[in-house]
Amino acid sequence: QVEPGPALAVRDVTKRFGGLAALSNVSFDIRKGEFLGLIGPNGSGKSTLINVVSGALEPTSGTLEAHGRRLSLGRPEKTADERIGRTFQGIRLFTDFTAIENVALGAYCRHQRWTGSGGAGYFAIWRREAAEVLELVRVPASMWSRDVTTLPYGIQRRIEIARALMGHPHLLMLDEPTAGMAEDETQEIFALVSEVARERDISVLAVEHDVPVMRTYCDRVVVLNFGQLIADGSPEVVLRDRTVVEAYLGQ
Ligand code: ADP
Ligand code: MG
Repeated sequence: QVEPGPALAVRDVTKRFGGLAALSNVSFDIRKGEFLGLIGPNGSGKSTLINVVSGALEPTSGTLEAHGRRLSLGRPEKTADERIGRTFQGIRLFTDFTAIENVALGAYCRHQRWTGSGGAGYFAIWRREAAEVLELVRVPASMWSRDVTTLPYGIQRRIEIARALMGHPHLLMLDEPTAGMAEDETQEIFALVSEVARERDISVLAVEHDVPVMRTYCDRVVVLNFGQLIADGSPEVVLRDRTVVEAYLGQ
């Protein structure tokens, strides 16, 4: 099989908000099956990068490719068609639905082109898959039919990851998936994400601040500072790089 190019190629991406360049000529690749860490101080452009790749924001300039195909810019439904999934820095679940309904709805992005005929029973099929995915991210079955807003924070974060997995992503982008979590739960989330990613051949881009976690799970780390990519390499090298350490200490 011919390798048609990286899971994601970011080329010279710039995103301005008025006078502020949240991203300045950012370029890097994510290889197929790679677990890439994205770090940088607050306000360095990490979430903006995920928003641009997912199509939630249109870049001011630059291009994106997945497996050698140009991605449409600023079109989240097209990006979902390309099997690029994401979670959000702040939890964004459907608050008037149960846990399993939230996850099942993640399959909807696979049915953008569905015209409506013969669709009876789709949700029941999605629900069955949602149950499998909820088991995968270890949400206890006793919680599946509860309103998501009544569930613990850490469980809600797992539900978000489960919902993203329902889109059958080739690339999964996680924006601070363990923010506010204790060290052991952070480790557990990363362990299960990397296991699922390996099993399903998913490339991962994860924003994470925990250095031991980055060392353990990331194949590579890229660093943003004031919208510029200042480092790209192995965790051992990047996390010891003087400019990287200074960017963090300087915040
Ligand atoms: P990070 O995720 O690394 O903390 P962000 O990508 O959220 O950083 O933000 C990068 C910069 O862009 C910040 O200065 C932020 O205030 C600004 N920014 C982000 N989103 C918007 C927006 N929608 N409108 C205006 N400014 C924004
Ligand atoms: Mg952010």
